[in-house]
Amino acid sequence: MYHELEIRLRGPEGFGLARRAIEDMEKRGIWPTSVNFELWMHFLADTDGALAREIARLLAAGTAFTDQVSEDLAATYLPKARLNDQIRDTGDQLSRELASVSAAIDSAKQSSKAYGLTLASASQSLAAEKDVASLEATVQTLAGATKRVQLENQSLEKRLSESSSEVARLREHLELVRREATTDGLTNLANRKAFDEALEQARNEAEANRGTLSLALIDIDHFKSFNDTWGHQTGDQVLRYVASVIGRVGATPRFAARYGGEEFAIICPGEAQVAVTAALEEIRLEIGSRVLKRRSTNEDLGNITVSAGFAVRHPGESAHSLMERADAALYASKHGGRNRVSMAEPLSDAA
Ligand code: GH3
Ligand code: MG
Ligand code: MG
Repeated sequence: MYHELEIRLRGPEGFGLARRAIEDMEKRGIWPTSVNFELWMHFLADTDGALAREIARLLAAGTAFTDQVSEDLAATYLPKARLNDQIRDTGDQLSRELASVSAAIDSAKQSSKAYGLTLASASQSLAAEKDVASLEATVQTLAGATKRVQLENQSLEKRLSESSSEVARLREHLELVRREATTDGLTNLANRKAFDEALEQARNEAEANRGTLSLALIDIDHFKSFNDTWGHQTGDQVLRYVASVIGRVGATPRFAARYGGEEFAIICPGEAQVAVTAALEEIRLEIGSRVLKRRSTNEDLGNITVSAGFAVRHPGESAHSLMERADAALYASKHGGRNRVSMAEPLSDAA
């Protein structure tokens, strides 16, 4: 599908397709962000594809194409190929680098072997030769061979040091790609994928070490109406602000993530229930007491509140069950009037 789109983009249809994408987005009230544009190009180029079906489903359901929705779509349907390409390219470069270094080492081995032979034969000659002229010739040979090996060693050294900086560069690049794949673009917190992995890992560690583990979920209250009142861009700024508070309180050894649109999660390993409650209260109070201002106009936006729920893991409990209980606790906070922190019910024996 990507390949086909590439061909169409570089063919006579390309501009028409782009125009249709813009028109269709405008008609449907989809912002012309680069992600949305890319999604729409694919949508129109391949109307039977999985992405098109998903977009059609979302449109039919009246889902707003928030940045999060678009990012999620793109992450699922678009950039994986790009990401995989990047990883593959880096892998190819690494193998080439290693092959070329191993060739350099081979060649150095050869010349040192040749040098060994020269030395051996020189030592025989030295034992046999009695006259000064022959001795001089042998010494000349030795000097020449030594010089060559020195040069060869120097060039190998240079090659190895070039190679180690190249490998460091590639490693950095891979790290960047990995970070990109696990970070939420809007808030810079860990994304859902990274969260799922971290939770599973924290659960397994807690199980192995009989350690405590809590999971907290935090959701912005009435955020839909905030967006409706102040607009999506301002909503995004607020999401960044909320994420910054959650990221600070949720810093290592805790693990904070953007779980979904306006939902966040914090994994708290090895902490007593009071510590988790205190952390969530800190977040709740700090966000709730902040008077928000619109950056561009300094307009007063009032304040927003968050609700939180958390669950403390039982021995043997799965990540999934922990998540469900944390979610139920969050629901209890919402149901109880929002702007509060609730702890989950303990796991019933039957569960
Ligand atoms: P509740 O107190 O029950 O949580 O109400 P709510 O309005 O926050 O909850 P609901 O789930 O009905 O709506 C979530 C809203 O969050 C919908 C959407 O407007 C907003 N939202 C989700 N993701 C984003 C985003 O990336 N940017 C912006 N600006 N808004 C988002
Ligand atoms: Mg909400
Ligand atoms: Mg929500």
